[in-house]
Amino acid sequence: MTQRFLFPHERLPEVAETLRHEVRAFLREELAAGGFVPGSDSWMNASPEFSRKLGRAGWLGMTWPRKYGGAERSSLERYVLTEELLSAGAPVGAHWISDRQTGPMLLRYGTEEQRMRFMPGIARGECYFAIGMSEPDAGSDLAAVRTRADRVDGGWRLTGRKVWSSFAHEAHCMIVLCRTSPKDENRHAGLSQLLVELDAPGIQMRPILNLAGHHHFNEVVFDEVLVPDTRVVGEIGDGWKQVVSELAYERSGPERFLSYYPVLASLLGPLAAQIGQANNLADSPLTTAVGALVTQLATLRQMSLSIAGRLQAGASLEIEAAVVKDLGTRFERLLPEQARLIAASAGISLHEGEFGRLLAEAVLRAPSSTLRGGTNEILRGAIARGLGLR
Ligand SMILES: Cc1cc2nc3c(=O)[nH]c(=O)nc-3n(C[C@H](O)[C@H](O)[C@H](O)COP(=O)(O)OP(=O)(O)OC[C@H]3O[C@@H](n4cnc5c(N)ncnc54)[C@H](O)[C@@H]3O)c2cc1C
Repeated sequence: MTQRFLFPHERLPEVAETLRHEVRAFLREELAAGGFVPGSDSWMNASPEFSRKLGRAGWLGMTWPRKYGGAERSSLERYVLTEELLSAGAPVGAHWISDRQTGPMLLRYGTEEQRMRFMPGIARGECYFAIGMSEPDAGSDLAAVRTRADRVDGGWRLTGRKVWSSFAHEAHCMIVLCRTSPKDENRHAGLSQLLVELDAPGIQMRPILNLAGHHHFNEVVFDEVLVPDTRVVGEIGDGWKQVVSELAYERSGPERFLSYYPVLASLLGPLAAQIGQANNLADSPLTTAVGALVTQLATLRQMSLSIAGRLQAGASLEIEAAVVKDLGTRFERLLPEQARLIAASAGISLHEGEFGRLLAEAVLRAPSSTLRGGTNEILRGAIARGLGLR
């Protein structure tokens, strides 16, 4: 039977709105004190100092049990925190993966020793993880990974090469997807996840510069790296199942449609000034174009929030999350382009001021939105399967 998607309206609880005011006050103070410069796509900007400040405020790992350094708050509160940080363009990249992905994964599949060892440091904003999934010949087709771990006394010897590893050069650990038994007819069998401490002997790291010329990605080479049994995550052979559930954590959050919001926000001031000078702009196609962006943003937010609310209630919504990521990241590609056209038509400089700076960053970064975390073509295949069309 064909599945339908439902995105019931979600209302944020009072406590989440209270938190919003606290976060805004914190961000205002940080900005005033020069704690950060707002950025486009700011979850790709890392500031360990900023992450530690969030940790001190109790805003990392905030949904986790207290014994692992968490604050036992709701995922809707975390949602509000996240949307405020991204809207402000705050540099959240250092802790992003560990807070969003690694902690929940350890809660689900990790051992008690792994949780106690790593989660409190993540919650303090001091311990960072990288994702070791992609390889030169295994991106969309992740089951093709060739990095392998061979059984040795007391652990595994890891050999292989990972690419596009975001912030691996600033991370303490990486969760590596690898093959622990040879490929057979079931390509998804025989894969496992190992938690690798990145200062272990046998690891080499090289920068891969992105389109903007920045060192964000890395190539990470493992040459017979010894990984003890205590660093196996979940069960040997269950890596595929674990990775799929890990990806679900990262697909429907505000980072899939708010990455370039600072560009839009910084356009509104100059645009209002232009409209003030030329009254006839008030009803112009420019304001209609801004309205169209805001409408899409509001709809995406409602869909994403709806998923957050249902995830909080324990639902499993991988297909709905893929829909939000597909629509949201297409919006992310559209926003800088539309903002550029609106600004150009209104006679606003594309090169100067806060808007010019954020726009320039966004133009170089937006192409990655529809690739990272699984490309849109792959997501649409998953959606089609979910609808019973494939
Ligand atoms: C900013 C950024 C950060 C990233 N960070 C990390 C990270 O930290 N760790 C990590 O492991 N990876 C990371 N990645 C890698 C990312 O997950 C991969 O780029 C992505 O999964 C696509 O893989 P690929 O680059 O090998 O492209 P390919 O898989 O080679 O795909 C190339 C093109 O072909 C299309 N295509 C492929 N197969 C199909 C198909 N079956 N049907 C239709 N179209 C298809 C794709 O959609 C794409 O357009 C990051 C990527 C970016 C852009």
